[in-house]
Parts: sequence; C-alpha cells; structure tokens
Amino acid sequence: MRAPADPRVTWDLPAPGGLPRTADLEPLVTRVLAPNPSAMTLDGTNTYLVGASGSGQAVVVDPGPDDPAHLAAVEEALAARDARCVAVLVTHHHGDHAEAAQPWGARFEAPVAAADAAVAGPRGRVLEPGERLHLAGTSLGVVATPGHTADHLAFRLESGAVLVGDHVLGRGTSVVTHPEGDVVAYLESLRRVHDLGPSALYCGHGPELTEDPSAVLDFYLAHRAHRESQLLAALVRGAGTVEQMVADVYAEVPRELWPAAAQSTRATLAKLAADGHVVVDGDRVGLP
Ligand SMILES: [Zn+2]
Repeated sequence: MRAPADPRVTWDLPAPGGLPRTADLEPLVTRVLAPNPSAMTLDGTNTYLVGASGSGQAVVVDPGPDDPAHLAAVEEALAARDARCVAVLVTHHHGDHAEAAQPWGARFEAPVAAADAAVAGPRGRVLEPGERLHLAGTSLGVVATPGHTADHLAFRLESGAVLVGDHVLGRGTSVVTHPEGDVVAYLESLRRVHDLGPSALYCGHGPELTEDPSAVLDFYLAHRAHRESQLLAALVRGAGTVEQMVADVYAEVPRELWPAAAQSTRATLAKLAADGHVVVDGDRVGLP
C-alpha cells in the first residue's frame, strides 16, 4: 500500500517558519501572517486582505486571533494598500480564524459575514453558498466547503484564486474534525474546489499554492482514500480500538498530533461504517 505522493515536495515552497509577515500575493490580495504558530496552525493563521487596487477598500478574510501585534500588522497592510476595511469574512468558526471577527468588525465599523450565525454576530450577515459578494471594487464567490467543519466556506476571487481556509493547507493535509466534521462532505468539497479550476489556493495556514493547485487537490483526495485503506488494514492486523488504530497508522507522526489524528480517524471510521465496511461502538472498532 503506497502512500500517494505529495506534489509539493518538488515545489520551491518556503520552509516552515519561513513565511514573510506580510506578502502581496497578487494585485487583489495581501496576506498577513498572525503570530500564533503551532503544530496545528503551522506558521500561524493567514489573514487575507482582498480588494481592487485604487478602490480604497479591502475585505479582511479570517482576521485570526485577537492579538494587538496582529491587528497592528493588518492595519499597516491596509494603510500600505491605501484601503479601509469594508467587511470581515470568516471561513469557519474555529478561534484561530474567527476570534478577532467581532472586535475587529466593531473597530473597523465593518459588517462581519460567515456561514455560522454566532460568528457573524447580531449585526452580521449569514452567508449562503453560491452567492456573490460585490465588495472593495471586486467580487467574491461564496463556495460551500463543509468537511473540516460543518460551516466551512471558501471564497473564489475574480483572479481565479480561491481562499480555502482550513479546507486545504499549504503544507501537509487538513483534519476532518469529529464529530462536527464529515469525510463524505469533505471529499465532495475537495471535488467542488477542483471543479473551479483554481489558479491558486490561498490557505488558512502555510504558503500559497500556485504551481499546480489541482494536483494538490488530487493528492488530498488520494490521501483520504489511502487513509481509508490503511485503517481497514490496521483492523485486519488486529487494531480493535480507535487508539490502537491511531498508534498503528500514525506511528510516524509526532505524538502531539495524535489527538487530531484520532479525530480524523473517527471521522473516517464514520464514513467506513456508513459504507458498511466497519462497525464502530464507542471506542471499539470491528469488522461487520
Ligand atoms: Zn485553522
């Protein structure tokens, strides 16, 4: 059982920790890296400013942690674009993306928009998949990408680039959380973004993927299929609990990531159970 090859190993991507604090990715987009690196957030959370140059406006996507140094960096990047923030968009409710949404929305006097009503807040806007937002002299398509979380959205830009939040990460693969996440929905969402033929993927964490974004989406799909066969193989080898399966399949992965691996494993087992390949009873897993 060969693991699918990650096409990015041959790409010239910055090393972990090597992302610049602020980077202009294309005329429409500036990225500001938040100072919250960790095993789960990689280099830190990427906050994106999107707007037509000369419009004097920008949308802030995924403000990230409510951190004064990060706010200062975002305000500096807005000033460099000669833009004021006209809306705060959020890809999903996790704190490393959404925490600053309400405080910064208030500070910028800009509405907050997200799929989750609690993130959008009382004066915010709940986004619907398929809608097109006309903001900051450009437009953003709202793309449903449930899987990592149920409320996850991506935003497609006029340039063809897609802001993908945690649906796809700049390095490694993403986690389908459990019980909120959904592997079947996740796979559909990967295909949906693939079908858009993105010119670039701007990820919630890690570097921008510009060389061959579709190859990364193909890899993500193959990786998920590989995980399914690995879990079935572990079961045949005698792993009878979620914990034993994680220890078997994720033996090479640092232990600090095992709790996330356990969530992904549970989410994948839920799909395998729905397909009739396994029986899951609490922590115990068996063949039907
Ligand atoms: Zn995240």
